[in-house]
Amino acid sequence: MNEVLSKKLLDDFPVLFRHRSESSMQRGFECGDGWFDLVYQLSRDIEVAARESGNKPDDPSWPMCRQVKEKFGSLRFVVFAVEGRPELSERISELKLHALNRSLQVCPECGQDVAVVSEGGTAILCQAHELKR
Ligand SMILES: [Zn+2]
Repeated sequence: MNEVLSKKLLDDFPVLFRHRSESSMQRGFECGDGWFDLVYQLSRDIEVAARESGNKPDDPSWPMCRQVKEKFGSLRFVVFAVEGRPELSERISELKLHALNRSLQVCPECGQDVAVVSEGGTAILCQAHELKR
């Protein structure tokens, strides 16, 4: 993901994306620009869920993202387990699954909806990007 979009995510969710040098996040957001909205929305939803469960950003147990990447054409968003808050962990799992399913319908390059599975099955792209590749 390009620098401008990555910076926006880091600026808007500094606590969710804290301690990046200690996890795979040191490599940045390992997916295309087309998934910016998906990643942004998931980040926001996770923080909303955390707030609703009574968690606070300065609490050490606030969700912490360890990795964001594309794998087999879908969005993987790894969040450090929220200890002692099973209902929040479950809610986050639901949100992540929703984003993963959604990512299968969105081109990672441009964010266009109508996606097709590439020959190799390793990436799911819109018609235009599939033809380019
Ligand atoms: Zn595309």
